[in-house]
Amino acid sequence: MQIVTKDLEYVYQKGTPFEKRALFHINVTIPSHSYTAVIGHTGSGKSTLLQHLNGLLQPTGGEIRIGDLTVTSEKKGKGLKGIRQKVGIVFQFPEHQLFEETVEKDICFGPMNFGATEEEARQQAKTALKLVGLSEELLNKSPFDLSGGQMRRVAIAGVLAMNPDILVLDEPTAGLDPRGRTEIMEMFYQLYQEKGISIVLVTHSMEEASKYADSIIIMHKGTVYKKGTPKEIFSSPAELIDLGLDVPESVRFQLKLEDKIGKEIAEPSLSIDE
Ligand code: ADP
Repeated sequence: MQIVTKDLEYVYQKGTPFEKRALFHINVTIPSHSYTAVIGHTGSGKSTLLQHLNGLLQPTGGEIRIGDLTVTSEKKGKGLKGIRQKVGIVFQFPEHQLFEETVEKDICFGPMNFGATEEEARQQAKTALKLVGLSEELLNKSPFDLSGGQMRRVAIAGVLAMNPDILVLDEPTAGLDPRGRTEIMEMFYQLYQEKGISIVLVTHSMEEASKYADSIIIMHKGTVYKKGTPKEIFSSPAELIDLGLDVPESVRFQLKLEDKIGKEIAEPSLSIDE
């Protein structure tokens, strides 16, 4: 399933004295079976854009085409329920949304809400738990007796149990230790490669964006500042630093080195031999 935005605009609290324009003329395509990273400074509009991808927010201008469905400011609502099943969103700290007494009930909640029978939902819960690398033995436990990492996986399983075509992830590794981060990122990559699920990842980590995504969108002040492959985006890291992005020290060091070498070529200094 493909998502295309055309001049998409979004204004919070439109028509009130508090109105705030969060997105301006966004034109992006999320192709079928793709891995896209969305990066940008806090407040650049990443979350607002994400919430349009499954119809949680609807444009105040322009349009978004999600599969066969076109959503505009005039044409809202119809067909959105189906879209919410096809495009799953994993919000930051998704484990905060766990609430049922058992892991199984929690994972079954979504599918049953979308018309699955109890038996079907249970089957989906088992499959989803396997996809996130957890054992079936956890199904009857309380989610609140699990470790933080396990809770996050259960919450993700709840989204996967809906069988989405696209998984939208808002900082899915926030708060995890380095090992937990790698494990979760590898798990999503496997879902992309082996299950054909498209991934849209919002991240502050340039390493995650460059390592896993096929294409990167840089958001800046509510606009798409740049889009391209990781190679294209990271070929000008100085630009990323100017945008206030958290470019890793290794890349900064390389830049300093290149800068230094450039200067040395331009103004040769005396060598020891001389
Ligand atoms: P990001 O995810 O990149 O941090 P957001 O999409 O959350 O950015 O925010 C984009 C802009 O919209 C920011 O200026 C933010 O303050 C504003 N904004 C976000 N949510 C609301 C809201 N519910 N009401 C008013 N303004 C909002």
